[in-house]
Amino acid sequence: MKNISILGSTGSIGTQALSVIGAHPDLYKVIAITGQTNTSLLISQALEFLPDLVVVSDETRYSEVKAALSHTLIRVEAGVEALCEAACLPKADLVLTAIVGSAGLKPTITAIEAGKDIALANKETLVMAGDLVMRLAQKHGVKIIPVDSEHSAIFQCLVGEAHKSIEKIYLTASGGPFRGKDRNFLAGVTKAEALKHPNWVMGAKITIDSASLMNKGLEVIEAKWLFGLEADQIEVIVHHQSIVHSLVQFIDGSMKAQLGLPDMKLPIHYSFAYPGRISSDFERFNFMDYPELTFSKADRKTFRNLDLAYEALRKGGNMACIVNAANEVVVNAFLKDQIGFLEMSDVIESCMQEVEFIAQPGLDNYLETDEHTRIFAHQLVTKQLK
Ligand code: NAD
Ligand code: MG
Repeated sequence: MKNISILGSTGSIGTQALSVIGAHPDLYKVIAITGQTNTSLLISQALEFLPDLVVVSDETRYSEVKAALSHTLIRVEAGVEALCEAACLPKADLVLTAIVGSAGLKPTITAIEAGKDIALANKETLVMAGDLVMRLAQKHGVKIIPVDSEHSAIFQCLVGEAHKSIEKIYLTASGGPFRGKDRNFLAGVTKAEALKHPNWVMGAKITIDSASLMNKGLEVIEAKWLFGLEADQIEVIVHHQSIVHSLVQFIDGSMKAQLGLPDMKLPIHYSFAYPGRISSDFERFNFMDYPELTFSKADRKTFRNLDLAYEALRKGGNMACIVNAANEVVVNAFLKDQIGFLEMSDVIESCMQEVEFIAQPGLDNYLETDEHTRIFAHQLVTKQLK
């Protein structure tokens, strides 16, 4: 029996993780769940899975959750400290980080320092502070098992392989809802259009990131840290059917890919079962439904975010942290109709030029960079509003 804490249980990844666990009550037990605003879902998850601890990170909602669970033995807590407690419960064997954005950094670090293995969905943690997080994981002997589908694919392809055998990796990108469109078209797109992903149903932030190709940019940075690669060893290839989840090319020229239907339950299930595999009743791939799998180059002129992410990766230091924070602000602003689709990249680029660069940041530097970038990006967004 594996005891699992789920940070961000009310989100897209969190709910799918609970459905995986619900299908295997003999193998997995949920011991903590956390949510931010969707208290009714958090409460119903608590009543179904009976974890030891429920954390509502928005403290103003504490009394509502507490009252609803008062007839149970479940402990209810609120706030950021409590989120960190959920990440390091003594009984936990594995922590699934399914919070969105930089809010995932502190609880992830807490879990690693407590020696908990991590099923990592919250890619922003590695984009912000990948060197620090991976160093801590090594120091505490913690496994970081990727949940992001591309990284799970690479991780699966690397089972039994030596690091020195990797020549390069290819991360596949669906291209999102605006694949093939030009900048004129993108200038006028609405959030409703951007939120319609062709292959995946996900939370709002990652869906906008997928439409702007920032998601792939963040994933390039995530891959660098997870697999210890240089920027030149990571390539992005558009594959709009989302069946080949990513590939590794080895030094002898041989390639391995991992394939499957686009269903996040698969990489979640793998991260729980790792290092083994457990049978599932997920729908199986049918070749006749996909007689053609196609591949094409990413349009980096139209979708500038990909190059911005590569630039941050090459620059190192706190530059990716700047990109991440600026991106969180602009995605939020786009979702509130405050800025246009193309302006998102403009604000990110300005932040990269203006926010103080720190070559060798520590945790405090990362947290300060996140805060300063947000303030600066907000100012730029507000200017655009005027
Ligand atoms: P989501 O918006 O659906 O859910 C986010 C979860 O985080 C919710 O439980 C929410 O309550 C919680 N949360 C939000 N803000 C918080 C805060 N400030 N403090 C504490 N908790 C907070 O997001 P998602 O689509 O499930 O994505 C979660 C993470 O997984 C993201 O980092 C995303 O990039 C990554 N990911 C998601 C998918 C996917 O298919 N959804 C695929 C790959 C990677
Ligand atoms: Mg992905």
